[in-house]
Amino acid sequence: MSFRAVLFDLDGTLHRGNEVIDGAVPAVQRLVDAGVRVAYVTNNSTQTRQFFSDKLSRMGFLCTPDLVYGTAYGAVREAAKRGLTRIAVVGEPGLKESLAEAGTEIVDFDDRPEAVIVGLCRTFTYDLMKSAMAAIRSGAFFIATNEDATFPIEGGGFIPGAGSVVAAIKTCSQTEPFVVGKPNPNLIQLAISELGVSAAETLVVGDRLDTDIEAGIRAGCAVHLVLTGVESEALDGVPFSADVAALVDKLL
Ligand SMILES: [Mg+2]
Repeated sequence: MSFRAVLFDLDGTLHRGNEVIDGAVPAVQRLVDAGVRVAYVTNNSTQTRQFFSDKLSRMGFLCTPDLVYGTAYGAVREAAKRGLTRIAVVGEPGLKESLAEAGTEIVDFDDRPEAVIVGLCRTFTYDLMKSAMAAIRSGAFFIATNEDATFPIEGGGFIPGAGSVVAAIKTCSQTEPFVVGKPNPNLIQLAISELGVSAAETLVVGDRLDTDIEAGIRAGCAVHLVLTGVESEALDGVPFSADVAALVDKLL
């Protein structure tokens, strides 16, 4: 086994909605038993680390909140790294709870925020767009959790994703955001630095070429595609397996 850490995408890789993908639980357990550090990387901005950890644990995966790298956590860390402490939010309660969980102060848009964090927001309104625009044009740093155009929902189908909300605010503020989520490598870089491993020692596993695999490549990690989610066939010479169980059989 040549990797010290394996970073797994969630939906389409380890589970589909609430359904665990066959063989994924024992496969991840085998990696952990072999001494490999396992962590989870997701573009989902709507929930806290605790939520994802509880969900994965219920499914049988070995998980604690500090092993979950979601875009809400990534956005919080990015703001903190830049010394920005007064944050206004366009997003779901889970994004706001993630900020509160990290001790970040959430302020109103008319209370001179230093940064505006934008994620998926199912209560997005014209007024909220106007407030975010004004704050960003007044100099607040614009952080987007991710630019996913759509978001898969339970039972199949899609709703507009964070990228749709981000695009509206990008257009009116005429400002490019710092984007936390995949395909940008930030979450993966954050995970490997907190796990204490190097990019060369890390394998990134996911079901999407344009997000998971692209992010892994940009972070300088080895990558592996599984065919249990978005992609149904091998692409562009990217290493692939049918599923996580088949991948772990190759690794161990
Ligand atoms: Mg996925």
